[in-house]
Amino acid sequence: MATEIQATKTMRKIMADHFFELDRAAKDGRPRIAWCTSVGPAELLRGMGFLVYFPENHGAMLGATRMAASCIPRANSVGYSPDICSYLTSDIGAYLMRTTPLQKAYQIEAVPRPDVLVFNTNQCRDVKDWFAWYAREFKVPLIGVHSYHNIGEITDFELRDIAKQIEGLIPTLEEVSGEKFDVDRFRDAVRLSRETSQLWRACLEAAAAIPSPWSFFDATIHMGPAVVARGTQEAVDYYRILLAELQQRIQNQVAAVEGERHRLYWEGMPIWGKLRSLSELFASLKTSVVASTYCNSWIFDQLDPAEPFESMARAYTELFIVRDEAYKERYIENCHDLFRFDGIIFHDAKTCPNNTNNRYGMPARLAKKLGIPAITINGDLSDLRCYSEEQARTQIEAFIEQLEGR
Ligand code: SF4
Repeated sequence: MATEIQATKTMRKIMADHFFELDRAAKDGRPRIAWCTSVGPAELLRGMGFLVYFPENHGAMLGATRMAASCIPRANSVGYSPDICSYLTSDIGAYLMRTTPLQKAYQIEAVPRPDVLVFNTNQCRDVKDWFAWYAREFKVPLIGVHSYHNIGEITDFELRDIAKQIEGLIPTLEEVSGEKFDVDRFRDAVRLSRETSQLWRACLEAAAAIPSPWSFFDATIHMGPAVVARGTQEAVDYYRILLAELQQRIQNQVAAVEGERHRLYWEGMPIWGKLRSLSELFASLKTSVVASTYCNSWIFDQLDPAEPFESMARAYTELFIVRDEAYKERYIENCHDLFRFDGIIFHDAKTCPNNTNNRYGMPARLAKKLGIPAITINGDLSDLRCYSEEQARTQIEAFIEQLEGR
């Protein structure tokens, strides 16, 4: 049995406090609540005094608790296709069914009502369509940033445009919050977010150690505060604790997977409802999944309080998901240098083409460049009808056998 990460208890408390604080604010009407996409301009919202709620985090909870299966058809029934983002369909379905995993986890009846909805299309168009549904439902303002996609080199023009768009959100946010924009408060949120990111990066990079002290499956759980609490002191404090523990584990040679024989990279979305069984499967095969694009997506260490708008534009445009194939390949090659994995698993998530990178020949190109094998597993982030456990198990076992043969 792998040794449990002690910081988990603290992480659970941070997540619980996050939802309790939102629930109180929703009841009191203060502070105002902004819903934000997961790689949206959270620092500006925090810096303007909003509490920030992330529907994608709720989507992941619906997936992890497997509630998504019953909620998705409800959204399909109002016209949202089963082929689009299953975070979106499960979340809207859950809302229509008046259900949420928050009820069982925290005895919170409903997700917090938004005062404003703020998106960034850097990850996909689905987030805007998703928030537009709630804007109609709650009759609150929908504002956001329209980003570029599939870009290689990022130009000054693009960065200036995104920075201007972020700045352009301020008048509506002032109107909703009733408070004047205060640049120092904003800079402070940017500073805290950068510190969170730097610590989160260090935690993820701890997995470069052999054996790795933690795995992708642990990181998907511990990334919660990096998503929902970036821009707060609590998140910074939390990742200091986690990093110290990981460093201690490295020193004591505590491995996420006892007897680690193989190391893998996970490309694409997690399969939320199957994290445990996948983690157990890999552990039984003495294989540690040491790095992933997904968990790295919440590293925003470009943020700089001296240039808050410009650095936010950079942080939210330099993201992997925004970039072209050539950039993405270089990125994974760099990860290979650092984490020394001997194979790559591509997850083809049926309802998220945006975070699925096997469809244009990348596995074959990377396998050739890096001299390591790659496989593709079909599945989905939340819609388990798209995932065959049996098939995935057979594929993974055969893949590890192939690694053994090398
Ligand atoms: S990136 Fe994928 S999972 Fe995330 S909101 Fe967009 S479609 Fe959904």
